[in-house]
Amino acid sequence: MPTWPGIIRTYREFLPVTDATPIVTLQEGGTRLLPVPQFAQAAGIAARVFVKYEGLNPTGSFKDRGMTMAVSKAAKAGARAILCASTGNTSASAAAYAARCGMKAIVLLPKGNVALGKLSQALIHGAQVLAIDGNFDVALDLARQICDRHAIALVNSVNPFRIEGQTSAAFEICDALGDAPEFLAIPVGNAGNISAYWLGFQRYRAAGRATGLPRMLGFQAAGSAPIVLGHPVAEPQTIATAIRIGNPASWKTAIAARDESGGAIEAVTDDEILSAYKLIARTEGIFCEPASAASLAGILAMNRRKPFPADARIVCVLTGHGLKDPDRAIAVADPVVSVPADLAELERHLR
Ligand SMILES: *Cc1c(COP(=O)(O)O)cnc(C)c1O
Repeated sequence: MPTWPGIIRTYREFLPVTDATPIVTLQEGGTRLLPVPQFAQAAGIAARVFVKYEGLNPTGSFKDRGMTMAVSKAAKAGARAILCASTGNTSASAAAYAARCGMKAIVLLPKGNVALGKLSQALIHGAQVLAIDGNFDVALDLARQICDRHAIALVNSVNPFRIEGQTSAAFEICDALGDAPEFLAIPVGNAGNISAYWLGFQRYRAAGRATGLPRMLGFQAAGSAPIVLGHPVAEPQTIATAIRIGNPASWKTAIAARDESGGAIEAVTDDEILSAYKLIARTEGIFCEPASAASLAGILAMNRRKPFPADARIVCVLTGHGLKDPDRAIAVADPVVSVPADLAELERHLR
């Protein structure tokens, strides 16, 4: 089997690139769509549930799909440096793609609210990491102002090429299933990804590569649910740091995705998120980060209210890898037990 060449070469007819675009890639995309029947059974869901395991991307999150496009376009435009505000994964991805093409990366992080794995990635790839004494929304506002004033390319999802690249995940799902699923469940933070999936599904259908469109089901964390509430949240709170965003940049397109698809955007509590996070890990061997589990928690809650039809296919997007946030896994799992180096003692502890 030939090597997967990354999303730009695979889907170039659907992306705004030409032969003159230099392709900066880590061969992102091509991630697995896994059936999760044991999870569905444990959760009491009769429908067929799949996960799009985006933690399998080169830097461990879906952000790589947009970053290959944004950085390729920045390279085409002659940029020497890129900058982003980030809850963590965008910075990890920006740092890696900048390293890949010899650019400088500068990342603005909300101080104290970035998971350890993500921070380690931005640092090891040589990005300049600046911790802002404010939340993500404050950092994004500063990022926009800096890029207006300096010759630095902004690679947040307000960069339209990020959204373009992220449409590729919808294409892959249709290719894997042979058509669009009936439901697509996804965590919503800055709301770029839900917008990108909807665009992708529409484009693929328009090109005759799929016959249907999914209902788009977006999930925000309850302490950070501006779209659900209908107004920005000044101090968003949630353990799911990747979706701890109070004023989403792609708010309008997320609402359009919801309404045009006949879908919904709802809130799930941190407890619901963590319980789904543990359930998928224990029943299927799939480790995602807490924010990703919002998609699972969301369909669980919806199914309790009104069960999904048994013949429906639900794809839950698991946006990032569990190793991004090892502290959270250790905090919610059973503790490590210390045992003396003695056979009888050890046997007493087996369960
Ligand atoms: C960025 C991110 C999100 C949120 O995506 P948006 O496009 O901002 O809505 C969700 N989960 C993870 C793991 C992320 O990195």
